[in-house]
Amino acid sequence: MFLSDLPSWFLLATILPIGACVGSFLNVVIYRLPKGMSLASPPSTCPACSARIRATDNIPVIGWLALRGKARCCQTPISPRYPLVELAGLLLAWALYTFRYAPIAETLPLGPACFQFWIEYGLIAALFAAAAIDMEYMILPDSITLGGALLGLATAYWRTDISLVQSAIGGASGFIVIWLPFIWGYKKLRGFEGMGLGDAKLLLLAGTFFGLSGVFFTLFAGALQGTLVTGILLLTQGKIEEPQAVTEEREELRQAIEDAEGQEKAELQALLDADPLGVAPEEFTGGTRVAFGPFLCLALIEFTIFYEPIHLAIEMWLLGGGL
Ligand SMILES: [Zn+2]
Repeated sequence: MFLSDLPSWFLLATILPIGACVGSFLNVVIYRLPKGMSLASPPSTCPACSARIRATDNIPVIGWLALRGKARCCQTPISPRYPLVELAGLLLAWALYTFRYAPIAETLPLGPACFQFWIEYGLIAALFAAAAIDMEYMILPDSITLGGALLGLATAYWRTDISLVQSAIGGASGFIVIWLPFIWGYKKLRGFEGMGLGDAKLLLLAGTFFGLSGVFFTLFAGALQGTLVTGILLLTQGKIEEPQAVTEEREELRQAIEDAEGQEKAELQALLDADPLGVAPEEFTGGTRVAFGPFLCLALIEFTIFYEPIHLAIEMWLLGGGL
């Protein structure tokens, strides 16, 4: 039995509601993960008054619309970010099925296709959360980058497009291609890191999921889109402010150093010195600090959804079909 034996409407009617629910979970991930909170408990509460949220009010998108964007408990406005992220979860599921799976449904055995779909959907949903977290905190969480890389390696054998060896080689290449020039090299030459270790771990993830072509596309499409957006922002705004959360955290740490004494003060100072975000950006780049991670995440999402044509083009153009 092949994927094409099931009607598209049936597949979409199954996939889309799950996508919206995953979007709802992504809201939890984006809010709780950078704060180090548990994703599983406590159950959803109102951020303003801490009242438990009713299950029916928590239905993706519909709940927010029915409440007209205000919490039932205390009438505090609920940010439209929540239904938008839920909608994004649904749209990512739709796009992955429509562009990646539907065109080749006749060639995909049903069982493996379903398995691979949910693995890849999990990947792009996690990348969406990582991009949102990186935009706000300039951190790509290890649980997503390293956890995702492990998942890519562990499932390579069962996915149709890649072998375990290709996955391992891809992952190692992805990490080294960032780490060697931008982290090790920059530090030697200029005394600071050109990119974060999180970016290297993200390329590790791209490699274990899709091999060398995934690394290649993520790096170059990510750099291209990042440069374009950064250029447009610099032209229109003059400079790019770092996220507020990053500034606040640095100020808090500096305050703690001032208040501390002796051994504790030295330890805190070492912590600040080791943090690539420990120096305010105006001290060396004219006030501009850009998170590159969201653009890498975006490129890898694009690669996953449009895998067939992109992978084929890269193989033909760059690798001569050999890999
Ligand atoms: Zn409330």
